[in-house]
Amino acid sequence: MEKDELQLNEEALARRAKRKPAPKQNLLTVVLAYCKGCGLCVDVCPTGTLQLEDNHESKFGVSIRVDAPDYCIGCKMCEMRCPDFAIFANYDEKGEQK
Ligand code: SF4
Ligand code: SF4
Repeated sequence: MEKDELQLNEEALARRAKRKPAPKQNLLTVVLAYCKGCGLCVDVCPTGTLQLEDNHESKFGVSIRVDAPDYCIGCKMCEMRCPDFAIFANYDEKGEQK
């Protein structure tokens, strides 16, 4: 990964370190085929749930990982920020609410 991508990961981990796991479990659905690894969702997530990682199966070389699902508060900031409809909170990829 590039330096700025590693920096996004570090900042997300720092935010997570200030929080506790969410009181209720939330479902995150990631469609990796749509993810271009731009990191916008990692940057906007208030709880540091997401991380970027190398993905050699992606043509972009990087994609996201739900690194700490217990910390997700279901706020949908990631879903609203993603330009590629690659992540959903409390919905599955078919749009069914969970
Ligand atoms: S904002 Fe969307 S495309 Fe960008 S890294 Fe997150 S899931 Fe992938
Ligand atoms: S729903 Fe909110 S807390 Fe959960 S991963 Fe997305 S931005 Fe982070």
